[in-house]
Amino acid sequence: MVLSSGSCGNSIVFSSDGASVMIDAGLSCRELERRMSMFGLDPSDMDALLLTHEHTDHTRGAKRFCSTYDVPVYGTDGTLSLTPLEGVELRPISNRHAFEVGPFKVSPFPIKHLAAEPVAYSISDDGFKLSVASDLGCATPKVLEALQSSQVLMIEANYDDEMLMKGTYPDFLKRTIRGDHGHLSNDDAAMVCSHVISDVTKTVVLLHLSRENNTPEKAAQTVSDGIRKNGRDVRLEVTEHGGSKGPIGLR
Ligand SMILES: [Zn+2]
Ligand SMILES: [Zn+2]
Repeated sequence: MVLSSGSCGNSIVFSSDGASVMIDAGLSCRELERRMSMFGLDPSDMDALLLTHEHTDHTRGAKRFCSTYDVPVYGTDGTLSLTPLEGVELRPISNRHAFEVGPFKVSPFPIKHLAAEPVAYSISDDGFKLSVASDLGCATPKVLEALQSSQVLMIEANYDDEMLMKGTYPDFLKRTIRGDHGHLSNDDAAMVCSHVISDVTKTVVLLHLSRENNTPEKAAQTVSDGIRKNGRDVRLEVTEHGGSKGPIGLR
């Protein structure tokens, strides 16, 4: 489930067979606890926190949450070295090698973003695969390959290009967001879907929508056009800026 998504804070929890991992902890510890209890999750059941990169909207609550509940933090050296994590058990990972957390196989893969050593993750368990790719400036062939055969694909749809270009952001920021190390637009997310969706794909979830430069309606419209091109029947879910979402894509 998605505890929160957007520049105000990102956190996703994946649970299966009594094991749970959290991807990013970008809300305060208290807010993480509050949203977890909304979904009947117990923070002390969390087996790992996987960090994608060091930006505050992905790490805000990591130190407090993980030291309180004794949760080990996995991340690349680049990410761990730039995230305040005193008193937390650190488990450095390579951005290309899969590792295990309980019953899950976790496969990180490198992405381009203005951060030290950012990654996205696929998590598989017994034939089920969830992929989470947010905060990336471009979907390279390697990224598209890593996202293949996911039952649940969580992909960033940060901005509508026209809204961004007509909006009030300064030009340098517009360039950064649209650049190879920025964020994916609705069109980019649609392109990813048209490449990656296959017969096994059940659900696509759009993440990290900008409050200023996107609307859930525009994101849904653009990406469903991309999905339609692919000719498959897939459920599309859109997380509103700062919003949460209950259980998604259960087997
Ligand atoms: Zn972010
Ligand atoms: Zn970021």
